[in-house]
This record gives sequence, C-alpha cells and structure tokens, in this order.
Amino acid sequence: MTNSEPELWFLTGSQELYGPDTLEQVAVDSRGLARQLDQAGLAAKVVWRPVLVSKEAILKTIQEANAAPNCVGVIAWMHTFSPAKMWLAGLAALQVPLLHLHTQVADALPWATIDMDFMNLHQSAHGDREFAYAVARVGAPTKAVVGSVRDPRVIGRVDAWARAAAAHADAQTARLVRFGDNMRDVAVTEGDKVEAELVFGASVNTFGVTELADAVAAVPAAAAEALALEYEDLYQVAPELRRGGERHESLVYGAMQEIALQGFLEERGATAFTTNFEDLAALRQLPGLAVQRLMAAGYGFGAEGDWKTALLVRLAKVMGRGLPGGASLMEDYTYNLVPGEEKTLGAHMLEVCPSLTTAQPTLEIHPLGIGGREDPVRLVFDADPGPAVVVGLADMRDRFRLTLNTVEVVEPDAPLPKLPVARAVWRGEPDFHTAAECWLAAGAPHHTCLTTAVGLEVFQDYATMAGVELAVITTGVTGWDFRRQLRWEQAYHRLAGGVR
Ligand code: MN
Repeated sequence: MTNSEPELWFLTGSQELYGPDTLEQVAVDSRGLARQLDQAGLAAKVVWRPVLVSKEAILKTIQEANAAPNCVGVIAWMHTFSPAKMWLAGLAALQVPLLHLHTQVADALPWATIDMDFMNLHQSAHGDREFAYAVARVGAPTKAVVGSVRDPRVIGRVDAWARAAAAHADAQTARLVRFGDNMRDVAVTEGDKVEAELVFGASVNTFGVTELADAVAAVPAAAAEALALEYEDLYQVAPELRRGGERHESLVYGAMQEIALQGFLEERGATAFTTNFEDLAALRQLPGLAVQRLMAAGYGFGAEGDWKTALLVRLAKVMGRGLPGGASLMEDYTYNLVPGEEKTLGAHMLEVCPSLTTAQPTLEIHPLGIGGREDPVRLVFDADPGPAVVVGLADMRDRFRLTLNTVEVVEPDAPLPKLPVARAVWRGEPDFHTAAECWLAAGAPHHTCLTTAVGLEVFQDYATMAGVELAVITTGVTGWDFRRQLRWEQAYHRLAGGVR
C-alpha cells in the first residue's frame, strides 16, 4: 500500500577550482559514501547523483528531484568547499525534504602523513558550514546529521528522517474517505479540510454511508464465508462465532464489511477512512473487526468522523514500514489513579489495531451500548509492553498542532476478563501527572495515534518537513516550561504564517 521504492537522492557539492583529478576523486569518494549509506538498510534507497559544481547543474538536479515520483528527499554533503551562492537558486526551488549530512570519507585523520592535498580534499568541516549558511538564508526546512556513516547512531538519525520523508511523500497524494460526518457536537474532531490538504497534502472527502451499506449487502456469500474461515486460522475465535456456531452469521457479516470496505477504498485509491456510529444507515453492526483488520493492513483510521486522526494513523503506518511494532487509533479512556501507580488505560469502542500485539488476539462478539445496532464482532488483546509515542492532531484555527507524549506501554496490573475490547496500558513521560497536565494545556485531542514502531525523532522530522507545530511532552519537561513553549510556538507560527 506504499511506494515500494522510495528514493533519497545523494547530492555532493564541490567546485571547478580543484581541477579534474580532484573532482574525479570527489566523485569516487561520494559514490562510495552513498553506497555505504544505501547498504546500511535505510527506509529508502540511496541514489547517487553526479557531483555538483555549478548553479545551473544544482538547479537542474533539484528540479529533477522535485519531479521524480519516487524521490522522497535529498541528502546533501559538501566533500570539499562549494561556494554556496551557486546553491541558492536550487535550495529556493527545493520542494522535497532536505537532510544535510555533515560527514567525511574516512573517520581517522592520518596525523603522520597529512598534507595540504589531504586538507583541500577533505574539508566538509568548512564546506558544509558554507552550505548551511545558504540553507539558513533560504530558510529551507532541514535536518543536519553529524558524524560517520559507520556510526549506527548516525544511520539511525538518517533513517528516522527517511521514514518521515516517506510518510510526507505518501501524504501528498493521499485520499481519505469519510463515511458520514463527525460525531455531533464534538469539537476537537472538527477542522479545516482545505487547510489540511495544503499542509499535509491529503484530500478528505465524505461519502454517504448508504453507499457502503449497499456495497456490504452486495458481497457474495461465498467470499465472506471464505474470509470468516481464514479468521479461524488467524485468531482464537469464540466457539459461538465459528462455523457451525450459533452466532457464526455475525462473523460472516463482519467479513462482508471487511471485503466491502476494502473494495470501496481500493476503488477510490484511498489509504485512510473514518466511520461514525451515529450514521450507520443499513449497516447491521458498527464496523469493528473490519476496521481493525484494515488498520493492520496499513490503512489510517479515525472513529467518529475523526479524519485528522485517520491521517495520523496513516502517517505512522508509512513511517513504521518494515519495523517491529505497530500503530493504531487510540483514546485515553480511563485512569488508574492510585498514588504511585498512576497509569492510563487506552482503548476505543472496538477499533484498536492488532499490529500493537505479537500475541494471538481473540475474536469475540459482545453487545455495544452505543450505535443501536446488532452486537459487533471485534478482536480483543493487550498491546505489547515497550516504548511508544502517543500523538494527537488538533486544528488551532490558524494552524494545526501536533502534540506528542513519549510513553511506556506496560502490562495491565491484572487481567481484564470483563473488558471486551483491545486496549493498551501506559505511563506517560516525564510522569503521569505532568504528561496529562501538559496534554490538557495544549488542548490536545482524546483521539490519538499510538505507535510502538517509531519514536519522537521521526515525528520531529515530519513536523519540520510539513511545517507543523509539534508540542513535545517527554523526559525533562515541566508544566510551566511547556506552557511557555506553547506561547512561543503560537507567536512563531502566527508570524511564520504571514498575512496570507
Ligand atoms: Mn472516540
């Protein structure tokens, strides 16, 4: 469901002054460096481009990068000095994310043999400073990564950016399908969909839920039966839902919903969607299992018409591609407030993605007090313990605000035999009280994306690329500092937005 061959173009700067022999060496070295980066197993393929020594060549290469469908970002490195006025036009034209890799060909200085030839060839230390000045003058959003490409920390930082770039590129052409509108009277799930398309790229459009209900009704019985049988292999299916069980028909209906939903989204090239329990037309169940399975397949999802969270979940799916862990719609639901043992129990009515567990979920059927339909089928499990981030997106009228809390998913204190939904239990950083206090101060939403696949740095890189505010609640943050930071961000984003 994602671009299978995202590319990062590797651009090397130099200048004619050095003569052909040196430029040949620069080409050999930079090709080798690009190869090392590529072989490090980044989330995107690294494509070496010929060394750049003129304003015209730089502009042309950057225009090609902008236009190349698979190019999700460019990595720039100045092996030698590269007078940066020749970079201005190219940087001003750049439309894909930029990573400035501040590195050298070899790690160790040859102290005993170093001469001026060596110094002139290996001068990233000041060539990259000259380049960075041009980046700063143009105001191009960038991430600078410093160090050796043999250092796993450097590779980790480049990979975080590559993941953000892949998600950013995916969002540019993303389509989001909403079945119905928002849950009535809810504030934080509202927002400016035109502005969202300008900022994130994704187009958000509503479809009548009657169209989906018709599509569900049209699913051939044999196809639904076959999928229901597949469920029996994949999950611990409750006996009453299995073939021959007295409620098997409800499971088959869940399979019909999955087939219809997936077909509906595929026909429209959509990679994210929302539902709303207040608007179900002839749907017999609120889609639970179907939504969970589509999220696991890589679709973004938001409940109650929450298209902003659907966008976030899709972003997190692309960011985390190929990594252990998962991403899901989540909702801060209820608390354990015992002093010293505070934690959040997150869940939703039904729709939590099974990518959050490595255990085998159970597939169950239970009544749902909301929605006024038949009992829905759903997968039930506990999210795996480990580090995660919880991210929310709110429309603050003149801009969007991402709020992120780094958290630790933990085992529940005890089994939850009476709770018939998938859930995650976590402790927010720096501590439960500060995390919740800051979340409230930001006006951040109750619907979030919880991801265990990627962390803070990927979202920081994404926020830089998209030009979106990111309020971070993590170790070391205090309520007072966080509120002051929000005020600075407010002032900055209003100024940065200009008079448009
Ligand atoms: Mn909700």
